[in-house]
Amino acid sequence: MLSNGELFWPKTFDHTHYPALTGDETCDVLVVGGGMSGAITAFTMARAGYRTILIDRGMVASESSAANTGLLQFMSDKTLADCIKDFGEEEAFEFYQLSFQGLEYIRELCTDLPADVEFQNRDSVLYASKKRHDNKLREEYVALRKFGFKCDLLNSRQLSETYGINRSMGLVTHGDAEINPYVFIQRLLDKAVNTYDLHIYEQSELLDWHEGSDGVNCHITGGRITARHVIYAGGYADNTFVKSVKKKQFVRSFAVVTRPIEDGAFWAEKAMIWETARPYLYIRHVEGNRIIVGGLDDNNKRVPSERLIRKKSRRLVREFRKLFPDIEIAADDCYGARFGETTDGKPFIGRVPDMSHCYMLLGYGGNGTVYSAFGAKMLLEMIRGEKHPQHDIFKLDR
Ligand SMILES: Cc1cc2nc3c(=O)[nH]c(=O)nc-3n(C[C@H](O)[C@H](O)[C@H](O)COP(=O)(O)OP(=O)(O)OC[C@H]3O[C@@H](n4cnc5c(N)ncnc54)[C@H](O)[C@@H]3O)c2cc1C
Repeated sequence: MLSNGELFWPKTFDHTHYPALTGDETCDVLVVGGGMSGAITAFTMARAGYRTILIDRGMVASESSAANTGLLQFMSDKTLADCIKDFGEEEAFEFYQLSFQGLEYIRELCTDLPADVEFQNRDSVLYASKKRHDNKLREEYVALRKFGFKCDLLNSRQLSETYGINRSMGLVTHGDAEINPYVFIQRLLDKAVNTYDLHIYEQSELLDWHEGSDGVNCHITGGRITARHVIYAGGYADNTFVKSVKKKQFVRSFAVVTRPIEDGAFWAEKAMIWETARPYLYIRHVEGNRIIVGGLDDNNKRVPSERLIRKKSRRLVREFRKLFPDIEIAADDCYGARFGETTDGKPFIGRVPDMSHCYMLLGYGGNGTVYSAFGAKMLLEMIRGEKHPQHDIFKLDR
C-alpha cells in the first residue's frame, strides 16, 4: 500500500472482487493496473471492440485512486500562463484543451453510470495566497480567456462577498466537477465487464514483458498473457517498468475528510477551492455535507507514519479555519499517500521507447484523473495506428 491512515471512499461502497489469473490467456489489449488510469483505459479499449483484459497486483481502485480526493479541474497545477512560457502557446493550449476534453469524457461516462459516482458540476475558486500573487491570477485570467476557457476574476470585495474568502483576489473557473473516484472506477469496470466483455484479474502482478512474433508475452503471477498491445497504468509504483521514465518525482500528499456539517454552513455553491501557493491547500464538498481539506505535500516518497498523518491533519484543519473561521469542522478520516509529479508538469502517455506494442499511461500530477481520461483516448488512437501531433507532447522519453 502506498497510503496510510483512514481512507474515506472505501467506506462508501462494497468492493467488487475479481478472481486471480490462473493459466494462460490471449487478448488484443492487456491493461496493467486497475486504478483510475487503467479503469478508464480498459473501458475505452473494450468499448472500442478490443478483447481486453485488466490485471491488478492487488485490488482495483485500491491504491492512489482510493486516496484521490476527486477534484476534476481543467486547470493544471502548472498554470496555462506558465505552460505558455515553458512550452509555447500552441502546446500549452493543446495541453489545456486536452484536459478540458478529458473532463468532458468523464462527464459523458458518468451520464450512463449510477448516481452513486457522485459526479457534480462545480466551479473552482483559485485564490491568491499572498497579495503579491495577484499578478499571477491576472496573467492566468488573460491566458485562459484568450483561449476561450470560461473564467472570472474577482477582487477582494467580490471574493469575500461571494465565497466568504478574505484574500486579495480570486480566479473562478467554470466547467469543473467533483466525483467519488472509488465508486466511479468500480461502476465503470462493472459496466465494461457486463457490456463490453472486459475480463478482470486481481492479485495478478505483471512481472515481466517481452515482445515476440506472436505479440507481447507477459509473465504474470498465476500465468501468462499474450497480448497484441499492453498498456501499463501502474500509478505511483516505483518498479522496473517505470525506472527508465525520467522527469518524475514522488512526493506525499495528505487529506482530511470532516464529519458532516450543516448544509447551510457551506460557502457559495460548494465550489472547489484552491490557492496559488505551492504546494497548495485545496477544499471540496463531499456528498453528505462533509468537507475534504487536502495538501501539505512534502518531498518524501516513503509511506507516511500515523504520527505524521495526525500532525498534518491538525494543520490542515487549522489552515481551513484560517480561511473560514465561521465554519466549525472536525476531522473524521485522515490519511497520507504517495503522489507522483513530473518536473515539467505534463503526464506521461505513449509508447515505451524501443518497444512497439507496449505503452504507458502515468497521469502524474494533481489532475491525474483528467490526464487518465484524455490519455485513454490518446492510447486508443495510437493502438489504431493513428498519428497526431499532440501524441509527442506527453511521450515518455521527452
Ligand atoms: C492524497 C491524494 C489526492 C489526490 N487527489 C486528486 C484529485 O483530487 N484529482 C485528481 O485528478 N487526482 C488526484 N490525485 C491523483 C490521483 O490519485 C491519480 O491521478 C489517480 O487516481 C491515479 O490513478 P492511477 O490509475 O494512475 O494509479 P493507482 O490508483 O495507484 O492505480 C495503479 C494500480 O496499478 C496496480 N499496479 C502497479 N503495478 C502493477 C503491476 N506490476 N502489475 C499489476 N498491477 C500493478 C496497483 O496495484 C494499482 O491498483 C490524488 C492523489 C493523492 C495521493
